[in-house]
This record gives sequence, structure tokens and C-alpha cells, in this order.
Amino acid sequence: MNEVTKIDRLLIVDDEKNVADTLRNISCNLGYAVKVADNIATFRKLERDFDPTVILLDLQMHGNDGVEYLKVLAKQKSSASIIVLSDTENRTSWTTSQLGSVLGLQMAAMLQKPISIHALRRELRKLMHGSTPLTAARLSAAIKVGQVRPHFQPKVTRSQNGSWQVGEVEALARWYRSDGSIVLPDNFIELAEDSGLLGGLTDSMLQQVADQLGRWNKQGHRVRAAVNLSPTLLTDRKLPDRLERLLGKHGVENNQLILEVTEQVVIEHTQATIGVLSRLRAKNIGLAIDDFGTGYSSLEQLYRMPFDELKIDHSLIRRCQSNKDIRTIIEAIVILGQKLGMTVCAEGVETADAFEFISGTGCDKQQGYLIGKPVPAAELEMLIGQTMSDLRATRAIA
Ligand code: C2E
Ligand code: CA
Ligand code: CA
Repeated sequence: MNEVTKIDRLLIVDDEKNVADTLRNISCNLGYAVKVADNIATFRKLERDFDPTVILLDLQMHGNDGVEYLKVLAKQKSSASIIVLSDTENRTSWTTSQLGSVLGLQMAAMLQKPISIHALRRELRKLMHGSTPLTAARLSAAIKVGQVRPHFQPKVTRSQNGSWQVGEVEALARWYRSDGSIVLPDNFIELAEDSGLLGGLTDSMLQQVADQLGRWNKQGHRVRAAVNLSPTLLTDRKLPDRLERLLGKHGVENNQLILEVTEQVVIEHTQATIGVLSRLRAKNIGLAIDDFGTGYSSLEQLYRMPFDELKIDHSLIRRCQSNKDIRTIIEAIVILGQKLGMTVCAEGVETADAFEFISGTGCDKQQGYLIGKPVPAAELEMLIGQTMSDLRATRAIA
């Protein structure tokens, strides 16, 4: 579809390239056609030629408070919905927004910096008119009819003889839409959370993963699979028993399931959460702390939680080649995790150099595009039991 004929067109007005790129990624993923203006002349031209339906206006541009932009829009009698990005405590932003309304413009929302990506996506979703925007009702129906399915990303584990072998996977949700597109979780997990659908989504993922593990068991592939669990579900005291029953029904051992929860759980845990986690561990269900290195959990908090795996966030792994301090941090996390009795997994391993560095740290597992992208079950099957050398040979990776 041509950008101008696409129904939802977003014009980002921002002169900081990094910020504009991030905003562009978020809105493209939602289905917007996107253009960026970093000065008033480009803005004038795009306002006319691109005819945006939504405008994201940053008020902290060099030498500009946004008024000039609003005047252009008022003169054109623009019907675009305007989202203003402003600085906290900044009265000028508020006044600018008021001025927009007085000029007859559609001031849709004012978001304060630092911008919450969650809030921004919510506002952008509200303003979409495309033929099939992502709504709670559609997501709910999709979960019910099984259109939200797991893809599986392989992880390699270091074996006794030092080779790395595929024996574990992470299940990642994919929304298969009727129009043939596949939506990534960053675009619907928050929607599910906001609309009370995350419990149902997770149950559906757990059932499909248990079913798949059962099938693999029957074929003689004893795979372990990780499922991402939202922190809110960890207060459900019945979860451990329910999971045990589910796994038993499919002929799957408890230790074939790993539940991944983010570091946030460690920081915001309650007694009830610890109770549920401990019972899961007592049943031998694996518990991994996800995205480690992005939050600020204390070592003491980490020590008190019954995790048996720690996953180092990809934001650290990505920078390991360019930054010596980051390499030191990764080495320290590996030692720390292992000393606390956990296995450690590096996420987001994309290059052979990163793989070699991680191997040298003594890390137990690696996951990332170098090893394999998330794929449907049938494709993953072919990778089970393969070593890094096999993968190198078949896919010609370095
Ligand atoms: P996550 O749990 O940290 O999952 C890893 C994400 O990193 C996945 O994105 C995966 O495709 C991506 N990834 C893996 N290797 C690489 C790499 O080498 N390079 C790069 N650039 N990316 C890599 P995905 O599938 O888009 O999932 C995004 C997030 O959505 C997940 O992050 C997880 O937090 C959430 N999510 C996915 N499925 C579920 C689910 O069933 N339930 C819940 N609550 N959250 C889910
Ligand atoms: Ca995860
Ligand atoms: Ca992660």
C-alpha cells in the first residue's frame, strides 16, 4: 500500500534523530505510515503532501515552542489529531496545548517526558482508523479461536564436552491475523494487559506449549520450553497446581517448563508472589529471571527469590563488543548468577564475536538471532539436538 493511500498517516515533528527513530519504529509497528519533519519548512511540505491523520509534536525543539507549527495547521484547517510531547512541569507546553484548542485544532493528548512507550502506544492505537486496527475485542476473539500462537526461539546449552547444543526454546507469542499479517508481541501484550486479556493469553500460550512439548516427547525430543509470565499472574495461588495438572495431561515433566518473569517482579514482589514462586520451584518447574540488568534489583532481593536461571538482557549483550566496561559487567553477572546457584543465559547474541566472548565468560546458555530466530514449531523441530557446528555448516553462519 502506498504511504499516502494508507489510512493512518503519522507525522513526527522532532529534531532529535534518536527520538524520532524510536517514535517511528513504534508507530510503524502499529501500522502507521510515518514521515518525520525536523524543521518548519519540511513540516509545511509534509503537512500538505502527506496529509497526516495524526501529528506527534515535540515542543522541545531547538528555538521553537511549537506555536509556529500550530499556526501552520490552523491556517490549513488541519483535522489531524495532535499529540503534544512536553517537558514535565513545563507551563509553556500546557499553554501551547490550550492555544491549539483555541485555534480549532484537535488536541488529542499531552504526553510528558520521559515519554512512557506504553502511554504513547495507547494514544496512537486510539487514533487509528485503519481497516483492522488492533483492538481489545479483536485480540480477545483471536485468543479464543487460537490465532495467538507460540513461535519458538532456540537456545544453545553448553554440554559436558564443551560443544553448544539446542535443547531448550523460548515460546514467544505471535498474533496471526486474518489479513495474513503476523503481529509481534510488543504491539499487543500491553493491550492485553490494559484490557484484562493477559491471563487468557498466557493460559492459551501455556496450553499450546504443553501440547507441543508432549508431541515432541512422543517423537523422542525431550525439549525444555520457557514461557513469559506477566508479574500480575504470580499472585494466583492456584497456578502451581494448575500447571502441574496441565503438564501431566500432556505427558510432560514439570522440569521441562520454565517460567520467565522480569526483574520487575524481584523489585515489586509481595509475600504472595514469593509463596507462588516457591511452590513452583518445589514442583521442579523452572523459574528464570528475564531481562536482567535493566532494573535495579538488589543482590539481597535476588538472593531471596527461588530462581534457577538468570537471563542477561540483550541491551548489555549488544554492547559487549564495543564497550570494555560492559564486558566486565557481563563477566561479573555470570559469576554472580552461578555463585547464587543459577544457570546463566545470554540473550540477543547476534554475532560470532559476541558468541565467542560469551563462551569465554563461562555462561551456560546463549540465545539470539545468530543461533536462530523465533520460528513455528515445525521449523524449530529441525534444530533440536543440533550443535553450533551443525548450525554453522547448514546455515553458513560465521
Ligand atoms: P523477551 O522475553 O525478552 O523475548 C526476547 C525478544 O527478543 C523476542 O522478541 C525475540 O524475538 C527477540 N530477540 C531474540 N534474539 C534476538 C537477537 O539476537 N536480536 C534482537 N534484536 N532481538 C532478539 P519478541 O518475540 O518480539 O518479544 C518481545 C517481548 O514480548 C518479549 O521479550 C516478552 O517480554 C514479550 N512476550 C512475548 N511473548 C509473550 C507472552 O506469551 N506473554 C507475555 N507476558 N509476554 C510475551
Ligand atoms: Ca523472555
Ligand atoms: Ca528477555
